[in-house]
Amino acid sequence: MATQIPPANRFDSRTPRAATSQSGTGQTSKGAKSKSGKRGIQQSRAFCTKRCLLGLVNGGALDRDCANVNEHGTDVHRINKSTFLALMGAQLSQTLDSDFQPCERPGSRGVPFRATLASHGYTVIAKCTPADFVTHLWHEAAVYDRLQPIQGYCVPIHLGNLDLQLPYYYEGIAKLTHVMFLGYGGTPIYQHWHRLDQQGVLRQAEKCMNAIHGRDVLHRDVMPRNILWDRDRSEVMIIDFERAEMRRARPVLGQLSINRKRKSASDSPDAKRIGSISKLCAQEMEQLKEEMSCLGRTEVCTRQT
Ligand SMILES: [Zn+2]
Repeated sequence: MATQIPPANRFDSRTPRAATSQSGTGQTSKGAKSKSGKRGIQQSRAFCTKRCLLGLVNGGALDRDCANVNEHGTDVHRINKSTFLALMGAQLSQTLDSDFQPCERPGSRGVPFRATLASHGYTVIAKCTPADFVTHLWHEAAVYDRLQPIQGYCVPIHLGNLDLQLPYYYEGIAKLTHVMFLGYGGTPIYQHWHRLDQQGVLRQAEKCMNAIHGRDVLHRDVMPRNILWDRDRSEVMIIDFERAEMRRARPVLGQLSINRKRKSASDSPDAKRIGSISKLCAQEMEQLKEEMSCLGRTEVCTRQT
């Protein structure tokens, strides 16, 4: 039977909070002394901006608006994405007591943490999961790879996956062994819905879903919990691609056989397949509209949990 992630109290990911010391071999109480000698109470850092992480991934200039920029370099990033992942793996193999705290309500297959690369200040989301769900996170990583051109705009920036050498015992029940690093995308949109320009936000969400479909990806779990709102940038982000389906890329017209060309366009297998995909995309778009209208009908949509 698969490990179940226990529910936890919801809290805003930006709110500094107390962290529980975690040695990797079991839970200790809040305020207990960790291996590093620090007490368990820690202040949370601000997350890196999307522009900052795009610079890290693409080798661009620093984003002066990132709260952690002074630790990233002078003019350009001192490290790149692969070095970030290697250094983060080395850091987490030493201690989980600092710069690594749960920061959001758990999902069905993962717990979001706030992780800081202590040597360079990068602060990102670390989605952690038990061994039972590792394959789901590798699948999600492959989907993010397909969505690379729209990372940072409609979906979070993916910084890589790794296995934890020291497991994290979440709430004393779930043994978390694998982590996926992502840029911060915001908080669930249902927390903000009554304060937003709802039609404008719906148009943004449709645009994002169109961009995802444009990369031949069906999300397959379009629920309000998977639609985030970044209130600093007033932007929608779509997350959680564990169940997503990657469709085959469209064929190049020049590769069609002579016989296929003789058939009418609507009868060809490729035309039927593309028609089928278009129908699925349209259905998913309708589901998105329905879920978001559900937010407008009730204070909190009952289907979000
Ligand atoms: Zn940064």
